[in-house]
Amino acid sequence: MDFSSADSGGASLPSSGTDAKKRRVSYFYEPTIGDYYYGQGHPMKPHRIRMAHNLVVHYSLHRRMEISRPFPAEASDIRRFHSPDYVDFLASVSPETLHDHTHARHLKRFNVGEDCPVFDGIFKFCQSSAGGSIGAAVKLNRQDADIAINWAGGLHHAKKSEASGFCYVNDIVLGILELLKYHRRVLYIDIDIHHGDGVEEAFFTTDRVMTVSFHKFGDFFPGTGHIKDIGVGPGKYYAVNVPLNDGMDDDSFRSLFRPIIQKVMAVYQPDAVVLQCGADSLAGDRLGCFNLSVKGHADCLRFLRSFNVPLMVLGGGGYTIRNVARCWCYETAVAVGVEPDNKLPYNEYYEYFGPEYTLHVEPSPMENLNLPRDLEKIRNMLLEQISELPHAPSVPFQTTPSTVEVPEEREDDMDQRPNPRIWNGNDCSSEGEEDDDKPIRLRSSINSNAPPNENSKLRDLYSGINDKDMADSDN
Ligand SMILES: [Zn+2]
Repeated sequence: MDFSSADSGGASLPSSGTDAKKRRVSYFYEPTIGDYYYGQGHPMKPHRIRMAHNLVVHYSLHRRMEISRPFPAEASDIRRFHSPDYVDFLASVSPETLHDHTHARHLKRFNVGEDCPVFDGIFKFCQSSAGGSIGAAVKLNRQDADIAINWAGGLHHAKKSEASGFCYVNDIVLGILELLKYHRRVLYIDIDIHHGDGVEEAFFTTDRVMTVSFHKFGDFFPGTGHIKDIGVGPGKYYAVNVPLNDGMDDDSFRSLFRPIIQKVMAVYQPDAVVLQCGADSLAGDRLGCFNLSVKGHADCLRFLRSFNVPLMVLGGGGYTIRNVARCWCYETAVAVGVEPDNKLPYNEYYEYFGPEYTLHVEPSPMENLNLPRDLEKIRNMLLEQISELPHAPSVPFQTTPSTVEVPEEREDDMDQRPNPRIWNGNDCSSEGEEDDDKPIRLRSSINSNAPPNENSKLRDLYSGINDKDMADSDN
């Protein structure tokens, strides 16, 4: 494929249509996802996914794509990345059994407690999130869709044997492993305000997955993602980190995103792309400190869509939930190729969107601490790094990469280790978040007992596959 003719106005391949060309979009949604509740005051609210879906439906975007209910990922699917004892723990723990002898001794080891609490239905929640991303990969593998969306996915901090940053199961790693069955090279791009550490770590030593993360760096969770972290061994140069400062605005973000991704697409030539659309990089986020508008955030998706390479679109962070819903609804519209009316249609959660009742909201009048000369330096440094890559590396197709082997910690070492938190109880946004006190509504109009739709047919493609892939070191 030749990406060289693409210019800054768009990057459609001359041979495969323009931006105006329709894409077949497959969208995964679990109707019960909004019922899961991390606990009083916790910033992570699965309810935001239901709010986004409600907007999608009221804008009639669902008529322009195929909607699937994800088949829950089974423990064996999840063990393709995660360690068996960690999966067993997640599958068996509950708020009631939390302090039983069998579970209590694991809480510290698996980093479960403060940021990552045990809540009712925790494993089912993980199964839905991961099932959506694996199902999305299967759709792309079968060439049944050009773009596959799972807003309940994108939980990029989860580690092989550890919860982190509100994430328990890394649906992204599982989705990419599924893509690697049919695609030689997968590009992972992360625009959450936090570094995509779990995904980077999983693929740090392989050239079959290239990871590119744009994130706030410096005194910020999770603390990784230095510009000089570039991968090791065969994975050297296949990790790209773009460290940013507070107040990142649309123009600054675009001035890095477009040239860097343009270059990566041209040199790496991925067969599939996974975009993590964490919405905590939006202006006014409860935990974030960037200043992107919904349109600026969605420009990343718009740009990637123009390459016409199979694309998986995932959620992630996002803690001012009315803006998360706005963002993921608008990005769904970008995926299907329509421009929705700014005036919000009446919907079940209408009162959340006042006083504007619009899809787009103005960024905050905050200072952008990313100076033009710093941005230029970062851009030049990274473009140079990407130039070090061989063109379209020919990787052996048969072998699935293994993860970096992180030695298991001794349990008695754990008291000593620093335990950075994504949330210390303080909010970044001066607005605070009033959503917390709103009642969590249970929608009665969606029949959660409905049988899984045709997605269940995909099941055989990703069950019964016994390759142990990545989670075999603890056996
Ligand atoms: Zn985040």
